[in-house]
Amino acid sequence: MTTLQSYIAGRWIGQEAAQSLRSAVNGQAVASTHAEAIDFAEALAHARGVGIPALMKLDFQQRAERLKALAKYLAANKEALYAVSAHTGATRADGWIDIEGGAGTLSAYASIGTNELPSGNLVHEGPAFPLGKKGGFAGTHILVPRGGVAVHINAFNFPVWGLLEKFAPSFLAGMPCIGKPATATSYLTEALMKLIVQSGILPEGSLQLVIGSTGDLLDRLEGPDVVTFTGSADTAAKLRVNANLVRQSIPFNAEADSLNCAILAPDVTPDDEEFDLFVKEVAREMTIKAGQKCTAIRRAIVPRQHLDAVAEKLRARLAKTVIGDPSREDVRMGALASRDQQADVAERVATLLQGAELVYGERDGFSPVGDGVSEGAFFAPTLLLSRKPLEHDAAHDVEAFGPVSTLMPYDGIDEALALAARGKGSLVGTLVTRDPAIAAKAIPVAAAWHGRLLVLDREAAAESTGHGSPLPVLKHGGPGRAGGGEELGGLRAVKHYLQRAALQGSPTMLAAVTGEHVRGAALRESEVHPFRRYFEELRIGDSLLTHRRTVGEADIVAFGGISGDYFYMHFDEEAAKASPFGKRIAHGYFVLSAAAGLFVSPSPGPVLANYGLDTLRFIKPVGIGDTIQARLTCKRKIDRNKKDASGQGQGVVAWDVEVTNQLGELVASYDILTLVSKKPETT
Ligand code: NDP
Repeated sequence: MTTLQSYIAGRWIGQEAAQSLRSAVNGQAVASTHAEAIDFAEALAHARGVGIPALMKLDFQQRAERLKALAKYLAANKEALYAVSAHTGATRADGWIDIEGGAGTLSAYASIGTNELPSGNLVHEGPAFPLGKKGGFAGTHILVPRGGVAVHINAFNFPVWGLLEKFAPSFLAGMPCIGKPATATSYLTEALMKLIVQSGILPEGSLQLVIGSTGDLLDRLEGPDVVTFTGSADTAAKLRVNANLVRQSIPFNAEADSLNCAILAPDVTPDDEEFDLFVKEVAREMTIKAGQKCTAIRRAIVPRQHLDAVAEKLRARLAKTVIGDPSREDVRMGALASRDQQADVAERVATLLQGAELVYGERDGFSPVGDGVSEGAFFAPTLLLSRKPLEHDAAHDVEAFGPVSTLMPYDGIDEALALAARGKGSLVGTLVTRDPAIAAKAIPVAAAWHGRLLVLDREAAAESTGHGSPLPVLKHGGPGRAGGGEELGGLRAVKHYLQRAALQGSPTMLAAVTGEHVRGAALRESEVHPFRRYFEELRIGDSLLTHRRTVGEADIVAFGGISGDYFYMHFDEEAAKASPFGKRIAHGYFVLSAAAGLFVSPSPGPVLANYGLDTLRFIKPVGIGDTIQARLTCKRKIDRNKKDASGQGQGVVAWDVEVTNQLGELVASYDILTLVSKKPETT
């Protein structure tokens, strides 16, 4: 039997077996934890002394590239993980969520890093804004790497995704990580870690793995460090008050128990497609991962008049679920992760049954298929009915972490929402309705208690990612009982691992710190047009003040003719007189076009493409006879390490454009986004 190994300070630790871990399917020993104690002082010293410098040698863009490479590597080697995953009781479909969902999350964060983060290791959370009247003093916000270590403690149910979804944003933010999987399924996380180390993609010190206890790790953390946790509310409550974490204000992010609900809205009748969608979603959430999902539907809230119909349809669906050895192709639901979990779920169902009836459960012919499964941690899909849910506290408080859900009748949508809120804070809730007015009324009320909400109807159903799937781009985490934490949510998650500081100073200083031009900062003007400089040659603040152009009526007429825009403000003297401007004015898009004509350097050069505008505002009207002028300033450069088809390197350059009139007043303001070629490589 294999002894699992921790990966600490660049080496594998663990020769001597300690606790043996059993297959959820047949009860046979799969692996054991190791007996050797981990020196957490050494682990932290390695993360700080080796990991942080190695991560800081890279920037956001380069770390995003590493994530992308790792995602590819894991996808290419996924079968090694599927082979181990079956021991956790997971079917291939369950394993897909964990394994490919994990690699997919890395990949999603690689794209988020590439597309939304700058080069370098500082995020400017702009725009900067003036704090004085003369323009010499401004303020903004910056985000920088915390210079600490992220400790990620995970639950047993997602041994791969659990680590990767926490690792990806923290790695991107430049934090070395120490991952601690739940012991019961740590053999799968260890297999993942072996692949990661073997890939050689991550800089040394950026990820360490703890098999077994975290010992005195939390007591040794320091102010810049972070702890994230997924697991039971009891453990979360214990760990978040660790004296050292409290004393040093070390952020503790928790995802804990959650009694998520799905509400069948009062407008849906048994003849509607939505009725079946509701039943399907509840049954699916009960059986995927054998209900061991922090997002699974624990409470199915239905209009009283449809209670029997929902119960009947659910019974029929659950009865069709083939349960057993998850490696068999016909099996739809595998086992719980361990015999301990099996006992725990049975105990919680017994508690729930004190105020509920059994609609479907073990007595309905439960018999797992497969060889040797009698020692497995199987549990029958169990549907309960709480007839008086407002009086049944356990239905809202006791999370049976298995294929267990409770039906609850309601009278009126307000009562349904009151029942939803009895979960005291949930990760996710689903509202199944056809009526936009019900969604508009119910969702804002439910949102106060939920981290994520799915409104399901026939239109969304075909593409719906489902009630239970956290997505990298959407926030995962709920208030109250659900732990009060936030994970994922696109760039938000990266920001959780960065330190935000407000910054005040002159525009010149703000530009120097943020690496972004701030209006009012010193400019650099030269004979060379900025569009004639290669990406490497361009500096923030390189600027061009154009010649001027007087706008005539002919311009307006010509632009109207070309664009077909004969809006009265440009063409109807009388109506324009009666307008707030009191006169005919030029099209805003003409001003933009004319400004481009003023600042462009027409012959071929390093500027390859203009791919858009940001923050466009038409601030003052431009009338017939007004004279406009443009200032073009290099505002921001991002090196995404991209090359075109011919291998020519290129970078992104954002230009600040100010268009002014003859009085020096700003008439239009925007950023233009361009791709600029790097210097051709000389061979
Ligand atoms: P636990 O809270 O027992 O464990 C979660 C993680 O915390 C594990 O890695 C565990 O390690 C670790 N841990 C436990 N005690 C300590 C400690 N004192 N110091 C440091 N780490 C510690 O949850 P389980 O994973 O065992 O799941 C139990 C229940 O939690 C489930 O039945 C379910 O109700 C709930 N749960 C909720 C989830 C959610 O996100 N909502 C997800 C998963 C579970 P070890 O395994 O070594 O004890």
